[in-house]
Amino acid sequence: MLDPTEKPDTAVPKVSFVSLGCPKALVDSERIITRLRAEGYELARDHQGSDLVIVNTCGFLDSAKAESLAAIGSALKENGKVIVTGCMGAEPESISQAYPDVLAITGPQQYESVVEAVHRALPPQHDPFLDLVPPEGIKLTPRHYAYLKISEGCNNRCTFCIIPKLRGDLVSRQAGDVLREAEKLVAAGVKELLVISQDTSAYGLDIKYAASPWRGQDVRAKFVDLTRALGELGVWVRLHYVYPYPHVDDVIPLMAERKVLPYLDIPFQHAAPDVLKRMKRPAAQEKTLERIARWREICPDLTLRSTFIVGFPGETEADFDYLLQWLEEAALDRVGCFKYEPVRGAVANDSAPPVADEVKEARWHRFMQAQQKISTRRLKRKIGTRQQVIIDEVGSTVAKGRSMADAPEIDGAVYVASRRPLRVGETATVKIERADEYDLHGSVVGY
Ligand code: SF4
Repeated sequence: MLDPTEKPDTAVPKVSFVSLGCPKALVDSERIITRLRAEGYELARDHQGSDLVIVNTCGFLDSAKAESLAAIGSALKENGKVIVTGCMGAEPESISQAYPDVLAITGPQQYESVVEAVHRALPPQHDPFLDLVPPEGIKLTPRHYAYLKISEGCNNRCTFCIIPKLRGDLVSRQAGDVLREAEKLVAAGVKELLVISQDTSAYGLDIKYAASPWRGQDVRAKFVDLTRALGELGVWVRLHYVYPYPHVDDVIPLMAERKVLPYLDIPFQHAAPDVLKRMKRPAAQEKTLERIARWREICPDLTLRSTFIVGFPGETEADFDYLLQWLEEAALDRVGCFKYEPVRGAVANDSAPPVADEVKEARWHRFMQAQQKISTRRLKRKIGTRQQVIIDEVGSTVAKGRSMADAPEIDGAVYVASRRPLRVGETATVKIERADEYDLHGSVVGY
């Protein structure tokens, strides 16, 4: 009789996978891998040990495209059989010109086409030992956190962005489907759900906020309703890519009550009215500083994270000064800043004269210095407080984790000393003893 834990030594088709780009692309990769694993394919650790390679590309910036092309090039060199998918697949000629030997090119979210291409190049083999896939699918993130994608595409037309061209208009998932996926993830041990989309606050607009059943109630596909329902799952829920529309005010009380994390990731990109107008940013006309002040009155420990672009075409010194002053007043906790890159096909490129590279560079440094001071100030206020920290990595003497104010990958960390070894995914109460520009340091006072 066969030992059920022993895999029979048949020619199991092996695929290696390169996943580039943002968390949304990572979720696409997870779906493709889940499907392939369900069909008996095995994931190989390296290209040489696999029968073919799938490269999920990012096409957002020229630098990301260059990285994607390089990944395709090395996969071809090391393996020879390559299927390309993801954002760059929306412009197949840019890939086929550089690499005519790739087996197939499919666009973003074309899961079926990728899987069909794999079937053609490497037919699946039925194997009951390998066909077992955990119900939550295959996660590429550590076991204790997971991205939860609530919609695809975007109805906005920011002039620097080509994502709507690549991914199409907003297509929201039914709230019941999102919640069932979230439940499965929680049942599989996930302790933190990171809600993502291109525009989370616009969720449900395309399906007229249709209600769908979940746990015997009807949940509308509305930002606040979905957030409230996710808050019932008893895990950390973190909201990303939210725009400051008036209805976002409704989730702040849920944050104050700790139903969801007091954390909002709002990509403001700029503050000067003229630049925002030319960027065609969603909710640009809202009085954001007043709104932030009101949010902080309701939820004083709200963490605000954002990203900005400096050197947008036509950005004047006065626009940039306005941005710095706004930044000082807004006192955001976590901020990323990018120098404008003219993505091919973006309307903004020809809308106004470009800002010289050395000016962009100088503005970027001034911006980062200003924000570093703000971030240091805000983190210092946490010294002496007790924070819940979720552990991401454990070392011999110190563990690395994150407080409610820190999203994985993009924010700072909390370095934790502990009397007993901590486990990855465990949450501990940590007394904060020290802060630097981006990180906190402390000791466990409660397990
Ligand atoms: S909100 Fe703007 S920047 Fe974000 S995906 Fe949509 S168009 Fe692009």
